[in-house]
Amino acid sequence: MDIILLGPPGAGKGTQAQRLVEAHGMRQLSTGDMLRAAVKAGTAVGLQAKAVMDRGELVCDAIVSALIGEELDAMAAGQGAIFDGYPRTAAQAESLDAILSARGRSLNHVIELGVDEDALVERICGRFTCANCGKGYHDKFEQPKVAGTCDKCGSHEFKRRPDDNEDTVRTRMAEYRAKTAPILPIYDARGIVSRVDGMADIDAVTAAIEQVIKG
Ligand code: ADP
Ligand code: ADP
Ligand code: ZN
Repeated sequence: MDIILLGPPGAGKGTQAQRLVEAHGMRQLSTGDMLRAAVKAGTAVGLQAKAVMDRGELVCDAIVSALIGEELDAMAAGQGAIFDGYPRTAAQAESLDAILSARGRSLNHVIELGVDEDALVERICGRFTCANCGKGYHDKFEQPKVAGTCDKCGSHEFKRRPDDNEDTVRTRMAEYRAKTAPILPIYDARGIVSRVDGMADIDAVTAAIEQVIKG
């Protein structure tokens, strides 16, 4: 099963993708995570992407689609993919179709997380992750069970993204509205879009997504 989680920055895509990985052994394909890894490793892609990401603009389609193709090739044939933060433009949506069909795969669901924009700044400005395993947290909405210790791996080190600040978030939201939201009709026409209330609490969103996947 291959699914897209679609929604603006802070909608909960990464949080829900991590839960699907744990529950179903699917693989999370986050172009944001791939790009941050490239920046950290100082690769050519990373060098090109860094300034664009710091501004909150979109990295070029060819780069992210190439990253997605490479990740899919590294997956076991039967393993389901969760596309998190990809596609973000009509050109990427078109590339994804080609990338999937070349590998004998196809999309089962596009799950749109509907959120209230006013809530997103608070979500993003309170976001942090475990520096060791990547588990996501929030200062107010999802704190570690034991303060300062990762629930999943026990690490005491956490990090925050440099682009998770109010200015950049506004640009990222504008990019979402202008370039990403318009791809929904492509999937609507195929009858594969399900809308989930992303304003509900994290467990309730997970339950709604599970309903969609069960069919
Ligand atoms: P969020 O989930 O908070 O929206 P991401 O981690 O998905 O953020 O993306 C962080 C940044 O990485 C984006 O603002 C953009 O610069 C870049 N990026 C990630 N995915 C894509 C993509 N599919 N196309 C273009 N740029 C991307
Ligand atoms: P995205 O990947 O869509 O950018 P995240 O999954 O990283 O979003 O969520 C952004 C922040 O909001 C994280 O700190 C996360 O813990 C928190 N969060 C995610 N879903 C919810 C929710 N339903 N209610 C409250 N906070 C949430
Ligand atoms: Zn951890």
